[in-house]
Amino acid sequence: MQVGHPVLRRQADAVDPAWLKTSEAQSLIEQMVETMRKAPGIGLAAPQIGQSIQLAVLEHRVTPEEEEEDDGWEVTNLPLTILVNPTIKRFGGPSERLYEGCLSFEGFSAVTPRHRRVRVQALDQHGEPQTLEMSGYSARIFQHECDHLVGTLYVDRMEPTTLTENRYLLEGFEA
Ligand code: ZN
Repeated sequence: MQVGHPVLRRQADAVDPAWLKTSEAQSLIEQMVETMRKAPGIGLAAPQIGQSIQLAVLEHRVTPEEEEEDDGWEVTNLPLTILVNPTIKRFGGPSERLYEGCLSFEGFSAVTPRHRRVRVQALDQHGEPQTLEMSGYSARIFQHECDHLVGTLYVDRMEPTTLTENRYLLEGFEA
C-alpha cells in the first residue's frame, strides 16, 4: 500500500494471542518476512500489506558501505524480530536526525528526528511477552514500525524541507 490508502492511517487492531497459534497467522508472518526481504526493506508493518493489525517484522543486516559510513549512528545488525501488539515504554537519549524512507512512500526520503533509545514491550510470534531495548539505528527502525501500527508515517515527523527523491540521496533506508 502506498501513502494515501486509508489503511495506513488507521489505528491497527490488537492481535489476539490465540490467533498466533494458527497456521493462518504463521503464514502471514512468513509472507511479511519474505515481502520485507524482497523489497528490500528492513521493516514491514501489517498495514503496509493491507492488514490493519498490530504486527510488524524487522531485520537489518549491515552492509559494508553502511559500516564504513557509520558516523556514530550505532548501525548494527538487527536479527529478525517479530513484534505483536508493541508499545514503546521508554524513550531515551537525545533526538537524532537521519534520513529515513518508507516502502509505503516509494522513492523518497527525508530527515526524521528519532529518539536514540527505546524500550519496547510486545509479544513475539508465539504470543510470549518480550521486552527489547534498542539504541541507534535499530531504535529508529522500531520507532518507524511502531508508528505504522497507530497510523503515523515518517512524513508526519520529517523536517519537510529535507524531503528528497532517493536519486539525490547518498544514505538512508526504507522500512
Ligand atoms: Zn514505513
